[in-house]
Amino acid sequence: MAHKDLWLSVLKRIKPTIKKAHFLTWFQDSTIIKNKERSVVVGFPTTYARDWVLAKYNLKIHQALQEIDSSISKIDYEVHSKLSEKNNSDGVDVKGLFAIEDEKKVRKVRNLSEVNVRKGNGHVSSKMLNDKYLLNNFIVGNENRLPHAACSAVASLPGGIYNPLYIYGNSGLGKTHLIQAVGNEILKNYPDKIVKYVTAERFVTEVVDAIGKRFMKKFKDLYRKVDCFLVDDVQFFANKNSTQQEFFHTFNELYDNNKQIIITSDRPPSELEDLGERLKSRFGMGMVIELLFPDFETRLAILQQKCQEFEMIIDPEVLRFVANNVHNNVRELEGVLRQIAAESQLFEKVPTIRSVAEIIKRLNKAQKIIGYDLEANKEYMIVKKASDVMRVVAGYYDLTVDELVGKDRRKEIMLPRQICMYLIKNELGYSYESIGVNFGGRNHTTVMHACNKTASRLRKDLRLVRDINAIKREMGL
Ligand code: ADP
Ligand code: MG
Repeated sequence: MAHKDLWLSVLKRIKPTIKKAHFLTWFQDSTIIKNKERSVVVGFPTTYARDWVLAKYNLKIHQALQEIDSSISKIDYEVHSKLSEKNNSDGVDVKGLFAIEDEKKVRKVRNLSEVNVRKGNGHVSSKMLNDKYLLNNFIVGNENRLPHAACSAVASLPGGIYNPLYIYGNSGLGKTHLIQAVGNEILKNYPDKIVKYVTAERFVTEVVDAIGKRFMKKFKDLYRKVDCFLVDDVQFFANKNSTQQEFFHTFNELYDNNKQIIITSDRPPSELEDLGERLKSRFGMGMVIELLFPDFETRLAILQQKCQEFEMIIDPEVLRFVANNVHNNVRELEGVLRQIAAESQLFEKVPTIRSVAEIIKRLNKAQKIIGYDLEANKEYMIVKKASDVMRVVAGYYDLTVDELVGKDRRKEIMLPRQICMYLIKNELGYSYESIGVNFGGRNHTTVMHACNKTASRLRKDLRLVRDINAIKREMGL
């Protein structure tokens, strides 16, 4: 089997056991680069991906490989930076592994009676809609108040005054979120309504497919039964004449029957090039609203909400820094946060402004960082050995180094001691044994306990997160 095919088989096996988002992040552009003498080498485009996969998925990969070829007994993970080059096609494009699946799902839903599915709790949902997109987890600020309000109005009374509702805005600002949220909400309020969500791209494929397989009549009948028609990214209809026609007919028929139509696009109707004038003017008949990039406060609120979703605590000061340094869209904001989460989990480190600045720089090299000078602070790291950390921690908590190292078990000394051990372990990579030695000959299990305890407190204690962030800043990290 060719290297890449072997790796694909492995990925297909482990895919069901890994969250989609993680899978997409960590396996993108990876591949097997050597398979010789019972030993396999897997290459990754970045150190992060390599370390993460090694730490989290080694066992799964091992098992999968063994199932495919039981003679393989050794796996090594290496970084091959050429895999990250733009035109390199050696690595696997993992999105492709999901494309086939999504396709299958949509095909199953072709019969509209399958579009709405009743769940165990009596809730109706749709296979076409992602139930994480809701109106009440969409953070509202001045820039998106109007589109959000219009969506809420439509959700409570579909086919009312906002019809069709046309929402436009740049990529990553929440159009898909909003349109799908309306679908979910309508199903909640009106369980018997048929909601059809489709991207314009998908609609085009369906039309072409229906023409090819000669079931155009069935296709038309199905679409005419819809009560609420949600069409995402209509700019995609440009230049697709035959499908534009079909869409025009569907649109008119539904509209004439007072069915709700919602449309999104990356531009206003007047700027849709190569789209028939008739269609453009139909789009503009109801309500046309622009979605804008949220302001600082709203971005901060979005970040706070996403932190809750990711179940992690980040110092508000660091969050403000992120909100200040993302200038394009909300998807990017989420991307930065996801990367922060992944790295802080992987390296068990509390994110600081410095570390976040580095992440932003890495994700978007061209970007100017506001509020932190990475270059000027390059060499600024005052912590080199355990005693440096002890000095800073003792200073921060107003203790002497002797107290910190001593035997006093009072809480106000014990906690800083544990924090200090944690930092020496995680920032300087000392072993538990050697930390024990530095703390007056304590046992390594005591040190381990201190580190674990601090790590677990960091998952729920915002004050501690702030303290450690402040301490790390004093240490130049
Ligand atoms: P678009 O379709 O406009 O390209 P999406 O709807 O896919 O954008 O949004 C990108 C991401 O940003 C999604 O994960 C979405 O949940 C999130 N998002 C955008 N705006 C908001 C908001 N106001 N509140 C919460 N999440 C948001
Ligand atoms: Mg979208």
